[in-house]
Amino acid sequence: MDYDVIIVGGGPAGLSAAVYARRANLKTAVIEKLTFGGIITTTDLIENYLGFPAISGADFGKAIQEHAMKYNPDMIQAEVKLVKDVDGGYEVQTDAGNFTTKTVIVASGAAPKKLGVPGESEYFGRGVSTCATCDGPFFAKKDVAVVGGGDSAVSEGLYLARLVNKIYLIHRRDRLRAEPILQQRFMSLSNVEFVWNSVVTKIEGDKKVNGVIVKNLLTGEEKELKVSAVFIYIGEVPQTGFVDVRKDDHGYIITDENMQTSKPGIFAAGDCRHSLTKQAIISAGEGALAAIAAQMYIEGRLKATQELANPSAPNRHSYGVRLGQTLRAYGKDFVLFAD
Ligand SMILES: Cc1cc2nc3c(=O)[nH]c(=O)nc-3n(C[C@H](O)[C@H](O)[C@H](O)COP(=O)(O)OP(=O)(O)OC[C@H]3O[C@@H](n4cnc5c(N)ncnc54)[C@H](O)[C@@H]3O)c2cc1C
Repeated sequence: MDYDVIIVGGGPAGLSAAVYARRANLKTAVIEKLTFGGIITTTDLIENYLGFPAISGADFGKAIQEHAMKYNPDMIQAEVKLVKDVDGGYEVQTDAGNFTTKTVIVASGAAPKKLGVPGESEYFGRGVSTCATCDGPFFAKKDVAVVGGGDSAVSEGLYLARLVNKIYLIHRRDRLRAEPILQQRFMSLSNVEFVWNSVVTKIEGDKKVNGVIVKNLLTGEEKELKVSAVFIYIGEVPQTGFVDVRKDDHGYIITDENMQTSKPGIFAAGDCRHSLTKQAIISAGEGALAAIAAQMYIEGRLKATQELANPSAPNRHSYGVRLGQTLRAYGKDFVLFAD
């Protein structure tokens, strides 16, 4: 085998896994298709990662990359296309060659979801963006639209509000669902107009964006907003197509509490995993746990979770089943009584 562990994705989950795997002396590769540091490198400001009261996404990405590199994992710039079963482990096929490994940690995150409306693909990079930090400065003193109502929409809106003339915040509901502290800051801005209960139906332009058509979901009424840019934050799509393990209906990977997937020796951590919420500190913690579990698996100290391997088992695990998994993972026998 070329490696003990191959980590797919170089974000907080993958790099944290790399630190733990290397400190356990595992031969480790991190394979990243875009930016080591992950999607958080695209944000302006992080205020909720313990130990960093305020840091830019770019600086945070650099810090976690340097930390991981201190332990010399192989850092491979490539896109993973397929994880294939082979004797004794897995073959990870990439556009830069194939590598064999005893274990895989999938830490491939989730990509921004698209609106799927006319004009979006045509004007992507010419006014349509999913990265305010990257593209915001091009629209200084202009009117722009931000689509979405969660943490990403509001935190990126806060950044944009300092640069642009006016923001139209377009949201399909009648209230934001971002963290209260972010909402309070955003609501107090004087250059934001809220377009509630509305969706974008078309992005218009002439070489670059010059407007959006929005539809009010309550009245059906459509109107045009004259904007130079549209920043889209309406959720994510997990990047998990290259690995055949049990997933939820949206493609997020289902694991047990030790980050084990339905296939022995394949673990998942971070935003690509079925979980309650997506945050950098949670991804980093899960990456650490996945690496420790991978080490225990290689040493024969971690048993596969039978329930996940069984396709007819329910996706949501009861407390009893989860407790049973933990007991089994530590080699304990148990009886589960359920009504
Ligand atoms: C605008 C914005 C602002 C945010 N602000 C905050 C914040 O303030 N605080 C906070 O805690 N969280 C924030 N988040 C969320 C945070 O970015 C994520 O929770 C975190 O980055 C997830 O880490 P991860 O390692 O699981 O995934 P990611 O960071 O997404 O890393 C996954 C990596 O895998 C790579 N990859 C995917 N598929 C493949 C493949 N096939 N082959 C090779 N590589 C692949 C991707 O290129 C990516 O770099 C924000 C997110 C966004 C979009």
